[in-house]
Amino acid sequence: MNIIFFGPPGAGKGTQAEIVSKRLQIPTISTGAMLREAIKKETASGLSAKSYVDSGALVPNEVVIGILKDRLAEEDCKNGFILDGFPRTIPQAEALEKMDIRIDVVLSLEVSDETIVERLSGRRLCASCGNPYHVKYNPPKDGSRCDKCGGELIVRRDDDPAVVKSRLDTYHEETEPLKAYYESKGILKKIIGQEEVADTTKLTLAALGIE
Ligand code: ADP
Ligand code: ZN
Repeated sequence: MNIIFFGPPGAGKGTQAEIVSKRLQIPTISTGAMLREAIKKETASGLSAKSYVDSGALVPNEVVIGILKDRLAEEDCKNGFILDGFPRTIPQAEALEKMDIRIDVVLSLEVSDETIVERLSGRRLCASCGNPYHVKYNPPKDGSRCDKCGGELIVRRDDDPAVVKSRLDTYHEETEPLKAYYESKGILKKIIGQEEVADTTKLTLAALGIE
């Protein structure tokens, strides 16, 4: 199954994607995580992406589409994959079609702007493996280190409140139109984001028919 998780920054796409990824044994592909990795390693794509990511703007399509195309060509994507954070514009969605990638379902996580601002202020990220946490909604088991790899938990630079505001503006202007795009294809399913991660997971699994 090829799945897209869609929604505003901080809606919980990464968290739900990780859970579904384990259940279905298919990889999650997060363009945001790949970009952060490229920035950390100072690759050519990373260097061209850095200023956009830091300011909450979208990275140019050529860069993101290039990274994604390489990743989708890898062996582990053959039996399906989950996209988290891609596509974010209509041209990006069209690029998927040009690559002959068929999408089965687009899960739209519906969360209000007020909730987003509150959530992102508590978000933490593993510095080593990138796994997301939240101080209140999804804390690491031992309180300070990553459950998966023991890495240090950090605050993402673009979770700064001023940058969050511009990420939300970017979302409404450039990304939200994709909802109508996928709705017209009949593959959009809305999931109302819940307070508890586990409750959103229930709705997500039900939408996928894998309870
Ligand atoms: P979030 O969904 O919480 O905003 P991501 O990790 O998905 O976080 O993205 C972080 C940043 O990476 C974005 O603000 C943007 O600058 C860049 N980015 C990620 N995915 C894309 C994409 N598909 N197109 C353009 N820029 C992207
Ligand atoms: Zn980790």
